[in-house]
Amino acid sequence: MALLDVRDLRTHFHTEDGIVRAVDGVSFSVEKGKTLAIVGESGSGKSVTCLTIMGLNSGRRIDISGEAIFDGVDLLAIPKDELRRYRGQRISMIFQDPMTSLNPVHTIGRQLREAVQLHADVTKAQANARAVEMLKAVRIPRAETRLDDYPHQFSGGMRQRVMIAMALINNPDLLIADEPTTALDVTTQAQILKLMNELQRDFGSAIILITHDLGVVAETADDVLVMYAAQPAERGGYEDIFYRPHHPYTWGLLRSLPHLATIGEDLKPIPGAPPSLLNPPAGCRFHPRCPYVMDICTTVVPEFALVPGSGDHRAACHLDEETKQREAATILTETLADSA
Ligand code: SF4
Repeated sequence: MALLDVRDLRTHFHTEDGIVRAVDGVSFSVEKGKTLAIVGESGSGKSVTCLTIMGLNSGRRIDISGEAIFDGVDLLAIPKDELRRYRGQRISMIFQDPMTSLNPVHTIGRQLREAVQLHADVTKAQANARAVEMLKAVRIPRAETRLDDYPHQFSGGMRQRVMIAMALINNPDLLIADEPTTALDVTTQAQILKLMNELQRDFGSAIILITHDLGVVAETADDVLVMYAAQPAERGGYEDIFYRPHHPYTWGLLRSLPHLATIGEDLKPIPGAPPSLLNPPAGCRFHPRCPYVMDICTTVVPEFALVPGSGDHRAACHLDEETKQREAATILTETLADSA
């Protein structure tokens, strides 16, 4: 059974200009101990999806519908104080910029201890011991002596390690990591991704990794959800997306990678820009940028359909199966040639 099962999630913001459909019919599941990567350009709805599940979209005029079943409980239907108990204990989050999550005026030790004591009835000494244990787990040298340091005394990569320590300190079942390596240089990024993979193996947490970078996905994911303009474009296992991609947007993302062996390069953008979510295009939302566009694409929304013969590989595209298979094979050949 999935640890988290999200069904037909919709998050609509009411603004002065109209309704922004930031998430518009997204479904996916995350298995225990596995990593799901949610990939797409900025504004595709991937971060809003996770913030909605965590109940962190409050304070605005917002309509939320759908279900987010976590271990049998619909997170969208429970009271806010109950949801708060899940956050930080059974589900935790890491954000792109650790400086926005770490309090600059408190020591790292104090912040780690508070993260423990917020959810467990332990003494200061016990919380301290746990803090040291976690700093060691994320490979902070001389962990015992760093507890009294402030965030600005750590490098960017070290701060992100501290954030990972804080996120894992209560052994969460699910870790949501929102662009956790984007602000880091390529070498540090690779180290952090390796660390996350190792910690996942040791701690057994499931991970939702939000990223715009298919190179990061290639390093970490078991399953992949490709989002475009607030909707799912394609979803499948790692091999489905990298070896049998069935959507022109995924093809564009793959073609924009220099090659899969190069981790951390920025994507060369697909021509054009994502549409406004106030007034998205009719039919397939990708049609103004799609090199394969047909008449039907401009008026009829493609079904998010199962790929024939697959387990749970789905794509929303009107192209026929033969064309999709041919293009997928071409991209795979290009990718392998580039990697050689
Ligand atoms: Fe392109 Fe049409 Fe497929 Fe949309 S439905 S991705 S426009 S071919």
